[in-house]
Amino acid sequence: MTIHVSPAVHEVPRVPQTPEAHPALVLNADYRPLSYYPLSLWSWQDAIKAVFLERVNIVSEYDFAVHSPRLEMRLPSVVCLKTYVRPARNPAFTRFNVFLRDRFECQYCGFPEDLTFDHLVPRSRGGHTTWANVITACAACNLKKGNKSLREAHMHPRQMPYEPTVHDLHRNGRLFPPNYLHQSWLDFLYWDTELEP
Ligand SMILES: [Zn+2]
Repeated sequence: MTIHVSPAVHEVPRVPQTPEAHPALVLNADYRPLSYYPLSLWSWQDAIKAVFLERVNIVSEYDFAVHSPRLEMRLPSVVCLKTYVRPARNPAFTRFNVFLRDRFECQYCGFPEDLTFDHLVPRSRGGHTTWANVITACAACNLKKGNKSLREAHMHPRQMPYEPTVHDLHRNGRLFPPNYLHQSWLDFLYWDTELEP
């Protein structure tokens, strides 16, 4: 279907008034985001398509509408899948997920930039590229450690590497919200966060 866009009557201040600035937060059928980092967002086109295909329910809407000759439709700000998508049991072993497990910080000094992989047991000594042997390190610490063992390098990781669960990665992903969060998303992003005592 084609939807012709024209400016809406009711507009929220300070949000750029284009449909592209109105993505929909996508929740699983249990009302948790499909993904926290990157946050699961669909373009307005994908969100509306999914509504018409009856794959999602609209949970919340923007005060911003798109128009076709016969139809005005407020864009969804939060949609929820009708069918629960079971998350992968074991997260993929990827560079991104290793960094996410380690919260995008060098595990030796805490520096958040120039991040690389460090092998606890160096590859030259038979160390494997696995969850349990790969750790996030800044370039300087990686260079400093070189081909030495931890003991030889006198370096101590803040956290020893481990194979994370999907839950571990979601928990860390919530530490990295995008720059822009629409008000209607907040209830679904942080409702299960542990409260400060
Ligand atoms: Zn470092």
